[in-house]
Amino acid sequence: MEDCLFCKISAGETDTDFVYQDDQVVVFEDINPQAPVHLLIVPKKHIADLNNLQPADNELIGNIYQVAKKMAAEYDIAESGYRLVSNCGDDGCQSVYHIHFHLLGGRQLQWPPG
Ligand code: 5GP
Ligand code: ZN
Repeated sequence: MEDCLFCKISAGETDTDFVYQDDQVVVFEDINPQAPVHLLIVPKKHIADLNNLQPADNELIGNIYQVAKKMAAEYDIAESGYRLVSNCGDDGCQSVYHIHFHLLGGRQLQWPPG
């Protein structure tokens, strides 16, 4: 996808440092962190948003949850707790239309979200 920021980042075309990567996903720190731990888990495959998720993507999404669990342990927030969230659309405050999952932790998060 031309002009997709997360396609460029996940392809290694920027100077973004990956804290994890495998054949399907990359993980990097959010440029504007909202918590002491704020990672973005991004599939290399371009999927614009949750509305465009297909049944064929089920394994990918399952793997993303496994990566989230692994990263939570590595960042020492597995026991204290964390949130994995994917914003969708305008009301969901999605700003980058390449599906991704925020892993947030390291402080007491609030509920309901704003
Ligand atoms: P969304 O608002 O779509 O749910 O999440 C997009 C996230 O990407 C935001 O939290 C934003 O701070 C982050 N972001 C946007 N541009 C960049 C960038 O160039 N580098 C990094 N590391 N994060 C970015
Ligand atoms: Zn993309």
